[in-house]
Amino acid sequence: MTQSSWITRFAPSPTGFLHLGHVASALSGWTHKGPHGGWLVRMEDIDPQRCRKSYASALLDDLAWLGLYSTRPVMRQSANMAAYRATLEWLDQLGVLYPCFCTRSDIAREFSGMMSAPHAAPDGSLRYPGTCRAMSPQARVKALAQGKPHVLRLDMTRAMGLVQSLTYADLERGTVRCQPELFGDVVMARRDVPASYHLCVTHDDAAQGVTLVTRGEDLRPATDLHRLIQALMGWPTPAYLFHPLLCDTEGRRLSKRDGAKAVRTMREAGLTPEDVRRASGYPGVFG
Ligand code: GLU
Repeated sequence: MTQSSWITRFAPSPTGFLHLGHVASALSGWTHKGPHGGWLVRMEDIDPQRCRKSYASALLDDLAWLGLYSTRPVMRQSANMAAYRATLEWLDQLGVLYPCFCTRSDIAREFSGMMSAPHAAPDGSLRYPGTCRAMSPQARVKALAQGKPHVLRLDMTRAMGLVQSLTYADLERGTVRCQPELFGDVVMARRDVPASYHLCVTHDDAAQGVTLVTRGEDLRPATDLHRLIQALMGWPTPAYLFHPLLCDTEGRRLSKRDGAKAVRTMREAGLTPEDVRRASGYPGVFG
């Protein structure tokens, strides 16, 4: 794969307007696709509580204003549920999923009864203590038959037993060794949405033939987990490139809550697409 033909992607969640952090992320993929590559837009809209169609349209409108357009039809995760279910079925066949009936307060109670502090995963979340992994098959069948709400978790120890050592290519750092086991038994299908971010993003990058994932530094740890899912599913491994997150003058991460930094607001204030691209920190290569 030469660097003039990467297939990159921009995968926002339509939960608000396009902001400068998005622009940096979009341009990072756009500038790396090279003259013969592609740049794909994917709406990560599986969460019906938080995502709005109107935001998806507004995101595409602001991207077009910036001169950025998907080189293939825009993918919507909400249309991919059957494929996510099929992925979960495959993982289930491998024996690496189990239902977890714990509520948040069950888990908090479990943590409070621990002698030592619970382990934190690399993304800052607390590692699930594994309560439901130890459930007897009878109790599990009974709870499922009663229709008890549950998530599906990855049995990390079993999953790691099925794969060789995992690495990926980081365009800046070279070969990176992955340690997905540090996350413990992560959720692969939520209660409210029958899939999880990790499952969907990994599925879609493979389905769309993405060869270079450009994403914010905040998603570096999760990449180890995505590499594990790729290995379990036999999917190809893209290369990765992580961009710094944009911060305000006080060093706080820019987010959609930062209404003043919405591209919409900047457009209305009379800024040009070039002004906005420059403000995002990617003034360089464009075209
Ligand atoms: N949807 C993710 C976000 O908005 C980005 C997708 C990814 O790179 O995993 O942060």
